[in-house]
Amino acid sequence: MMMAYTVTNPYTKEVIASYEVASQAEVDQALQRAQAYYLATKGQPVEKRAQKLLKLADLMEERKEQLAKTASLSMGKLIGQARSEVDLCLEILRYYAARGPQMLRAKPYLYGARQEAFLHYEASGIVLAVEPWNFPHSQVIRVLAPNYLLGNPVILKHAGQVATCAQALEELAVEADLGTGAFKNLFLSYQQVDNLLADRRVSGLAVTGSSQVGKMLAGKAAANLVKSSLELGGNDAFLVLADADVKKAAHDAARARLRNSGQVCTAPKRLILAKEIATEFCDLLKKELAQLKLGNPLDEATTLAPLASEVALTNLTKQVTAACENGAQVLVEGGPVAEMAGYFFKPVVLRGLTPDNPMYDQEFFGPVFQIYQAQDEAEMVTIANESQYGLAGAVYSQDKVHADELAQKLSTGQVFINQPATSHPELPFGGVKNSGYGRELSDLGLYEFANCKIIAW
Ligand code: NAP
Repeated sequence: MMMAYTVTNPYTKEVIASYEVASQAEVDQALQRAQAYYLATKGQPVEKRAQKLLKLADLMEERKEQLAKTASLSMGKLIGQARSEVDLCLEILRYYAARGPQMLRAKPYLYGARQEAFLHYEASGIVLAVEPWNFPHSQVIRVLAPNYLLGNPVILKHAGQVATCAQALEELAVEADLGTGAFKNLFLSYQQVDNLLADRRVSGLAVTGSSQVGKMLAGKAAANLVKSSLELGGNDAFLVLADADVKKAAHDAARARLRNSGQVCTAPKRLILAKEIATEFCDLLKKELAQLKLGNPLDEATTLAPLASEVALTNLTKQVTAACENGAQVLVEGGPVAEMAGYFFKPVVLRGLTPDNPMYDQEFFGPVFQIYQAQDEAEMVTIANESQYGLAGAVYSQDKVHADELAQKLSTGQVFINQPATSHPELPFGGVKNSGYGRELSDLGLYEFANCKIIAW
């Protein structure tokens, strides 16, 4: 039996909200309403739902400050970054409202002796979204916006840590009049998640979280032939070639790695440097880190917030200790900040992690930089690909064409040139290997849980 969903402010360590796990009656009602919504929506014009997405975007924009504060208080995000997260939600909602209807038009095919067929993108049924705490609003909107447009109802099981955000989103969905059953937040126990996956009305599972949980849930989904999409962990490589603008690269690496206090799946966790620029890069990185101001996430002057929870702080501390015990060297010292009340962790820069180090292939989910110095570009690519993960990556070089050649050698779902990896509504987002499968955002995100149905004439 799982405990209630508890929200603890990581800056003050105060419990700010607690919710009981959903009753069986609530789960039954949510399923019944979602299924009724799915059936009733079949054949309705998609433009009507596009209008509702715009309404939801307008409401989120109106409540931006409140939503940002709710995120910041529950998981510690800097208020400025929390506002940016709400902005991303607006972009996603407006992107699907504007571009989605066109993408859902039936696509013509020819077969045989010039016979015609049309591929129709139809709703497939209820999608269960299991989401993490690190982007408490945008992770939900990434699943909700495309599936709502398609006609798939979404049931949300959010991370306990951000239950207040889950509630806020549901309230906004009601206010935007998305429709009864279109979107429902439930404080589900793990057993209730399993039960939902076994329910014939549930046709899709979207998981964002750790690879461990993703694998486990995908296995349960597969046992019920529920289609899944998995957005999981990452240990992204950030390649800085000998001809790169080193100043920009060091600045971008610091900013991207420290965003959300280092708790981003696509953060540049492994900095792979050409030997020619390695010393200069590390000196610049040290300067960037020396300027940080730890403090209250709601204070605009703060530049590094606490980690999201005590568990996050404990895990990260253990990982750094294990890395050092197994041969990693500390280039910049940091770690838990005992004199501050919240779950603060000062950035650490490690180097000398070798493949025999048990932490070599692990994701550090916090402000820990790993430095690798490579002899040549072939070695840079080898190190980058020597990972259980394959989410995103970045290549920095003045020669964009050459950077593109290297990008094509990386075993990941996304690579960015001369910029850190980020989410854009227009671009497919997802990974390979233990980073999961399936894509969110863009047209691919819209088709992920569609019934791609052919009607041949
Ligand atoms: P997590 O522990 O895997 O949790 C993710 C979600 O799964 C939460 O809602 C959690 O609920 C739920 N969950 C955990 N165990 C479950 C079970 N046995 N049955 C059903 N649900 C279960 O991940 P996290 O630590 O919160 O998030 C960090 C991870 O997410 C990192 O690895 C990060 O890289 C990854 N991530 C990936 C992406 C991406 O797009 N690829 C984006 C963001 C984060 P509770 O909170 O109730 O346990």
